[in-house]
Amino acid sequence: SIPLGYFGGIGAASHNGILFKGSNFLELLTKVDTIVMDKTGTLTKGVFEVQNIVSENFDKELLVNLTAVLEANSTHPIADAIVKYANITDNRFESYNVEEISGYGLKGEVNNYKILAGNAKLLDKFKIPYSEKLKEITETIVIIAINGVYAGYITIADTLKDDAKNAISALHSIKKISKVVMLSGDKQLVVDKIAKQLGIDEAIGGLLPEDKINEVEKLKKEGRIIAFIGDGINDAPVITIADVGMAMGGLGSDAAIETADVVIQTDQPSRIATAIKISNSTTNIIW
Ligand code: ADP
Ligand code: MG
Repeated sequence: SIPLGYFGGIGAASHNGILFKGSNFLELLTKVDTIVMDKTGTLTKGVFEVQNIVSENFDKELLVNLTAVLEANSTHPIADAIVKYANITDNRFESYNVEEISGYGLKGEVNNYKILAGNAKLLDKFKIPYSEKLKEITETIVIIAINGVYAGYITIADTLKDDAKNAISALHSIKKISKVVMLSGDKQLVVDKIAKQLGIDEAIGGLLPEDKINEVEKLKKEGRIIAFIGDGINDAPVITIADVGMAMGGLGSDAAIETADVVIQTDQPSRIATAIKISNSTTNIIW
């Protein structure tokens, strides 16, 4: 590799769409041995699409419409998919008392219906029974309860970024990196499938935002030097506690970008390995 020096390093990084917020992070990045990543928006495009709707003793169209009106109160990519799919153009429905429960989903009222839309944990939280079979579905689903009764689910799919697989193999090709971990709020079955596809060493799903912090702290206690990469509002606290906090800039939230030490402005996870490689060549000439 070509020795660059700090100025050259920051310049080379910027040329590759990587913003270092200080030259100290070039040095720190050479010491990182563990990469921890968020799934949605970092390895996947974060653009969800409705695939399938299953209703149980409830009118399918009404189920979708009620859910969409509730989800219109959320900026989560899952919510955007449902709103877009339902494409409601009149004002038959009105939502009120809507509460977003981070890592779970939404609770609120639409017309005279009380609605919950989120993951299995959300229904568990409100002690609403549903078929155990839902737990075997390997896709992301939004489970819906209406007036306290399970009413069906909507299958949502996100797609992997084109360079997600390259991004992981590029990280594995760096000698110092001994482990690549993926953390997600999505369920374990979905997370396992993606980890296997991409060659990720360890993947933990079903995490609440605060659980992601705990996982990173656990790794730190093992003596690992960690770079965390995320894109969401929820990710800002994790970006802060990692040794090197990185944000995916393209779709990333302002909070994540502001807190990060390094910002990948291109939305390509393969640039994480690029950032490390640039750091390594930069630091060679100084030490
Ligand atoms: P991640 O970014 O890792 O997917 P989040 O904390 O954003 O984690 O979301 C975790 C899970 O919470 C989602 O996979 C989904 O099951 C549920 N969830 C969050 N927000 C919503 C929403 N607006 N509608 C339905 N489900 C939601
Ligand atoms: Mg996220």
